[in-house]
Amino acid sequence: MTSRLRPRPVPLDPACNPGFLKLDLLCRGARLEEPARVRADRGRPILRTRAGLGSGLELVLPGRLHVNVPVVEPFAAESPYVLRPGRRPGAVEVLRDGRACLPARLAPRPAWYDRTTSSGRPMARVATLQGTYLAVYPGRVCDFWVRGPEREARENCRFCAVGLNLGADDAPQKSVDEVMEVVRAARRESAITYVDFNAGHADDAGFLDLLEPYLARVKALGLLVGVQTPPHPDPARWARLRAMGVNRVSFCFELFDRARFLDVCPGKARVYGLDGYLAAIERCVEVGRARGPLLEPWVVNGEIVAGLEPVESSLAAVDWLTERGAIPTVCVFRPLVGTDLAGARPPPTEAMVPLFRRLYTRCVAHGLPIGVAPDVHVSLVLLPEEARWLVDDPDVLDACRRRERRNGWLARGFAAAFRTRVALRAAAALAPGR
Ligand code: SF4
Repeated sequence: MTSRLRPRPVPLDPACNPGFLKLDLLCRGARLEEPARVRADRGRPILRTRAGLGSGLELVLPGRLHVNVPVVEPFAAESPYVLRPGRRPGAVEVLRDGRACLPARLAPRPAWYDRTTSSGRPMARVATLQGTYLAVYPGRVCDFWVRGPEREARENCRFCAVGLNLGADDAPQKSVDEVMEVVRAARRESAITYVDFNAGHADDAGFLDLLEPYLARVKALGLLVGVQTPPHPDPARWARLRAMGVNRVSFCFELFDRARFLDVCPGKARVYGLDGYLAAIERCVEVGRARGPLLEPWVVNGEIVAGLEPVESSLAAVDWLTERGAIPTVCVFRPLVGTDLAGARPPPTEAMVPLFRRLYTRCVAHGLPIGVAPDVHVSLVLLPEEARWLVDDPDVLDACRRRERRNGWLARGFAAAFRTRVALRAAAALAPGR
């Protein structure tokens, strides 16, 4: 390859690097110059759904990078970033210390957000778009939030807002029919390709029993489906999920430093232990090595929160996961209003850049399938493939780009398989006698 064709690193400048801008916004948040106008009709409402990380304003940056920008937490009031309405509807100007950054636009508010299900529930309280995928927390509140015979005091993870959101921005106990009504609307009107289900801890370990009916119904439409769950006591359940056609399992162990894990996630530490999460990840990677349903990808994620432990520990988590064939999901810690850690600070961007660089280069070095899911853009985290924007060494960038070619072929293959599967399921559903 001639030097002329070598990819050039992009300066870490929010005026020209959308990956850096996304990371900097996740770390620093932004102030809204005209809140009412910025949030106006075309944008999505600020909803504290799931663990609360959806608490920000959903924007789309150049390169189709979706970002959920913190705007309501106190730290955002000190941000050097200001968001103000652009000239065209939906456009947002991003300024840092008064200097223009890359332009952004509001992630479009789907029409179904303003409708109700046939049971009368607002659809946006049943499931929400996070970036371009649909996120659902279908069950009751995580038992770590509930006092009872199992626990005298709450054992929730200290950064988590689930117990504050269910019943507020997020409806509790959604029926399968309600969820499917929203999934169909989101497929039809928002062209979603992926639905992500999230379950908290259940003292009776019933979280997979709860999720499976939803998963089966969504798979019947041919969509990609994933679950975030705690480790199940019966490891055979992972193979069962794969056999159902589930495409992603994600384990949120949050912290790799054992002392911090115990301190920040007391319930998880007591019931599962860090080793329980790591064993589940290894087991699920093994499940992926066996033959699964035709054309159904299987990905294992380990999720960590960066900024609540020394960065060396987060780096070690990235190494541990990628060496085993799991893809890390790295969330930037956001001190959510009302949570036990509301008064803490998010991590500085400078400390996050080397971590996300490592995330990308390790995923590529281990040949992990990053960026291959069709039309899945995530707003809450900087994805491994988006962290490519942070690489500053031309030789590293060049080597990674060449190794990534296989992922390009995989992406095209998955997209074709996805379109075929959805079309076949739709045709089968319309066939006489159905
Ligand atoms: S397990 Fe922890 S992070 Fe997950 S919902 Fe429960 S308290 Fe929140």
